[in-house]
Amino acid sequence: MTRKVFVAGHRGMVGSAISRLLAKDKNIELITAAHSELDLTSQKDVHEFFAEHTIDDVYLAAAKVGGIHANNTYPADFIYQNLLIETNVIGAAHAVGVQKLLFLGSSCIYPRSVEQPMRESALLTGVLEATNEPYAIAKIAGIKLCESFNRQFERDYRSVMPTNLYGPGDNYHPENSHVIPALLRRFHEAKNLEAPEVVVWGSGKPRREFLFVEDMASACIHVMSLERNVYEANTQGMCSHINVGYGSDVTIGELAFAIAKTVKYSGSIIFDSSRPDGTMRKLMSSERLFSMGWSPSTDLEEGLVIAYEDFLNSPLREV
Ligand code: GDP
Repeated sequence: MTRKVFVAGHRGMVGSAISRLLAKDKNIELITAAHSELDLTSQKDVHEFFAEHTIDDVYLAAAKVGGIHANNTYPADFIYQNLLIETNVIGAAHAVGVQKLLFLGSSCIYPRSVEQPMRESALLTGVLEATNEPYAIAKIAGIKLCESFNRQFERDYRSVMPTNLYGPGDNYHPENSHVIPALLRRFHEAKNLEAPEVVVWGSGKPRREFLFVEDMASACIHVMSLERNVYEANTQGMCSHINVGYGSDVTIGELAFAIAKTVKYSGSIIFDSSRPDGTMRKLMSSERLFSMGWSPSTDLEEGLVIAYEDFLNSPLREV
């Protein structure tokens, strides 16, 4: 039987990857709504939308997202809009009887000085990173909304927390983007200009874990497909959410060399220590998800090739 699946945030990097994957399943009727048709921050509009469509499952991939600079400058927008989107979508889904929903969070829900790799049980065990605390609080509220609807109404609302993602649909802004899209652009431009060196921020020593966005999409669909008793047996008490990571990390220096190779840039790489390193290590424990039968299929080398291809086709490339 065909299932009607609503992807909230289908234009975003993760939402679009989930939509592309779901569209391959003949038993799924994909439902999406452009921002102009549906304002997810409007409770009235969201409730009307759910009342009009007979939705079976929801992927809640819509969020107001941004880097450290945006989070620091617009903290009220980050907490307010994300709380609105979550309460509206989860509340409306419940109101019309949608039984299954997947909420997408972020690794910033974990305390600032958490033991690495970060396990699900670390949630609410310490102080959050100050720069994105309002955003993190909204994402923690989303997890707790899902848990609370499950406890009080027997709903089956699940949550996944991705590590750093990259791939098609990324933001290639030269200053405001994350490290992979920023370096793809910088190495590409250096190659074209035949520049002798490329500057990479920081010491090159911090370690980061990177997951290809299409693997994230496959993890989301895998988590939604698990039998309820399997999901619940693995997610109890204070940690009903599941981490989604690659399982290992690389140094920024190693990443820079891998990107130079992808882009075919043969000049030198300079590490600018006057730029911040940020956290020295950010690695998730994905043991729980791996034990439930999912693992990533795209390694960094393959993923970077696809990401570079996407950058070359991106309308923002000439910025
Ligand atoms: P973070 O994981 O929140 O720190 O996110 P980022 O992706 O912004 O940065 C990851 C690491 O890459 C940090 O250690 C940065 O200093 C380093 N990095 C090196 N070059 C760049 C760059 O051009 N842009 C960004 N955003 N980070 C860079």
